[in-house]
Amino acid sequence: MNARTALCIDDDPVVHDLIDFHLEGVVDRILHAEHPASGLSLASHEAPDVILLDVEMPYMDGFQVCRELKQMSVTRDIPVIFLTSDNATHHVARGLDLGGADYVIKPFVAIELQARVRAALRTRRMIELLRVHARVDALTGLKNRGALEEALARQAAGVARKGGGYAVVMLDVDHFKRVNDTYGHGIGDEVLRQLGAVLGASCRPADMATRYGGEEFALVLADTSQEAAIGVCERLLAAIRAIRVPVPGGEFGFTISAGLAMAGGEYPADDVLQRADEALYHAKELGRDRLVIWTLAPADDTGG
Ligand code: GH3
Ligand code: MG
Ligand code: MG
Repeated sequence: MNARTALCIDDDPVVHDLIDFHLEGVVDRILHAEHPASGLSLASHEAPDVILLDVEMPYMDGFQVCRELKQMSVTRDIPVIFLTSDNATHHVARGLDLGGADYVIKPFVAIELQARVRAALRTRRMIELLRVHARVDALTGLKNRGALEEALARQAAGVARKGGGYAVVMLDVDHFKRVNDTYGHGIGDEVLRQLGAVLGASCRPADMATRYGGEEFALVLADTSQEAAIGVCERLLAAIRAIRVPVPGGEFGFTISAGLAMAGGEYPADDVLQRADEALYHAKELGRDRLVIWTLAPADDTGG
């Protein structure tokens, strides 16, 4: 399990000492802020796993701090536990309505504080798991289009910072509709699973294989020259031609078409996916089962 961090925002230094004392062993690290502004800044920079937030603070009360936390994407999903010496029902209700996960009344009862923090950490873990699953394609186990878009943004930022280049490959199963029509959707799904497994296995840790949607896949090859990317694609096309899908009374094979586009140097990053898709379109036009590379000159067919 990852290290768990709590952030305590409270204007009273004594509360910080108590939190340190009571939460030892419940979390791995505790951050402290005695002002709402420094608390907000720590929250957005450190993205803690739980925030203990005093309601009664000068300048900006805990409700206002919570409202701001819920507006920032990095802090939105961090459970907030309000610390309040005022157990008036309207206070408690207001905190929860603002998106607070829970509340604890001062002075603390240690075991209650600890149990509520543990519960908030469970919520946090659940949110993290949901986030991971939201980026995974259920059929193939590959990352999905959302993850691809994040990876492309990361790669573009990396190239802008330190140069170099990367390749994007769009892949599409040839005549996949015929597979479904001939053998049924179940076998069609099996084709996608097998293809996904080959694509996943072809990736180095920095690369990413994704299911873009339907029978279309996309690869991001990090820190790669065009020559190296062509090598990867040709090996992939060959490996996919070799796949045999068992069906009652025999087996069958299938092919894919691929479009490759580079980003970095003379090639801009922002339209790399679009260029890979254009190259894929040409690969289909030229007869399928082949790789086409997008170049500044008219698209070039390497054969297949
Ligand atoms: P082309 O060579 O031009 O790509 O022809 P194609 O038949 O592969 O392309 P088309 O876009 O006409 O058909 C794609 C088919 O893929 C249609 C759709 O029903 C099927 N498909 C999309 N997603 C899935 C899926 O998850 N499972 C199965 N079994 N079929 C799917
Ligand atoms: Mg297709
Ligand atoms: Mg298609």
